[in-house]
Amino acid sequence: MRLSRFFLPILRETPKEADIVSHRLLLRAGMIRQEGAGIYAFLPLGLRVLNKVCRIVREEQDRSGAIEMLMPTIQSAELWKESGRYDDYGKEMLRIKDRHEREMLYGPTNEEMVTEIFRAYVRSYKDLPLNLYHLQWKFRDEVRPRFGLMRGREFLMKDAYSFDLDQEGARHSYNKMFVAYLRTFARLGLRAIPMVADTGPIGGNLSHEFIILAQTGESEVFCHRDFLEVAVPDASVDFDDVAGVQAIVDRWTSLYAATSEKHDEAAFAAIPEADRVSARGIEVGHIFYFGTKYSAPMKAVVAHPDGSEKPVHMGSYGIGPSRLVAALIEASHDEAGIVWPEPVAPFRVGIANLKQGDAATDAAAGELYAALQARGVEVLYHDLDERPGSKFATLDLIGVPWQILVGPKGLKEGKVELKRRAGGDRELLSPADVLERLA
Ligand code: ATP
Ligand code: MG
Ligand code: MG
Ligand code: MG
Repeated sequence: MRLSRFFLPILRETPKEADIVSHRLLLRAGMIRQEGAGIYAFLPLGLRVLNKVCRIVREEQDRSGAIEMLMPTIQSAELWKESGRYDDYGKEMLRIKDRHEREMLYGPTNEEMVTEIFRAYVRSYKDLPLNLYHLQWKFRDEVRPRFGLMRGREFLMKDAYSFDLDQEGARHSYNKMFVAYLRTFARLGLRAIPMVADTGPIGGNLSHEFIILAQTGESEVFCHRDFLEVAVPDASVDFDDVAGVQAIVDRWTSLYAATSEKHDEAAFAAIPEADRVSARGIEVGHIFYFGTKYSAPMKAVVAHPDGSEKPVHMGSYGIGPSRLVAALIEASHDEAGIVWPEPVAPFRVGIANLKQGDAATDAAAGELYAALQARGVEVLYHDLDERPGSKFATLDLIGVPWQILVGPKGLKEGKVELKRRAGGDRELLSPADVLERLA
């Protein structure tokens, strides 16, 4: 992408309305635009990052055996009356009436709808287990939408729903998602700690929140220091190996970790003081097992091998990709701007032409750009007529991991500079060596 043809509305001034660094940087880097309280447009740069996050989320859902679908944002109130949640959900639900005065709502979550879909088609144990997921916008009329993408009213969620014959099967489905979540956050370059959590309005009795430690987090959390070191399962994990997956979950739940709602002072005090972490955290994912809470009232029943019919056992599993975009920035930034981990960077490479209009510099930068494009590298070519300092500032602000600085001085010796955004290391290399390094 040539910057001259892209849409990147950088703000030079720090926006006053933003209280936390991720919100400030999202606005300054031209990634999002506020369109209402807790409602944001993703500008092109922001969308590139959101899509990268979603891609990793999808890959790990798919790897664990979950199946992608897409449910609508607008739901009928009837379904929520069946489950009994229509009245319980309260003011967080955006209620709408259509032209026929029918009660509708903008979905804050999808347990009811997915249960309706399930019961329409699945009748037998032979069709289980099943895990259906989608990535869809949600609306929750939060009391205090704030911190930009961190607590929006309209936000993106990946929500998965598992269906099993019995509690034992549901436990395995829960464990698979637990492991998929560990892998998802690790691939995003984040350390998320599974913590025993309250189940809230989703209900149920087995639940973990995945939390990233950060000073700006809204949750108060307590955990054992070793959680910062435990190894994350690699891609070879066999999701059909019930005992193997359980063993991973056991390892990750053997140490103390809880949010304030579930905090146990005595258990925490039993940890050696040097290993106690008491911190603030951002909830980036949440998994629940809730048995027959929806299937029983909504009559989603399946035939067991013995011929009896019983409500299916369910769990639900959420990740917030739009919140993650903000959480990633909270976890990785410096004075100059965002420092994207490579897997989620909007562009992997930036080229700064330090003397726009100089024939030799234009040619060298243009050739590098074409060669990287041809090799499938996502590259942003800063080809505007701006001073070098301003180009460095832009590439640093938007966090491009690898930056190639092309100027007449270096080119005289046949060299360009390769700069690493994280750490700032610079190296003089020939364009051919740069290509070798990055492609
Ligand atoms: P919170 O405690 O922050 O209000 P929640 O517990 O209500 O979140 P869940 O119902 O567990 O959220 O939803 C699953 C995931 O969706 C959360 O873990 C989070 O990543 C994301 N999420 C929830 N609410 C928001 C929001 N208002 N803005 C952005 N992401 C959100
Ligand atoms: Mg909430
Ligand atoms: Mg919560
Ligand atoms: Mg939650």
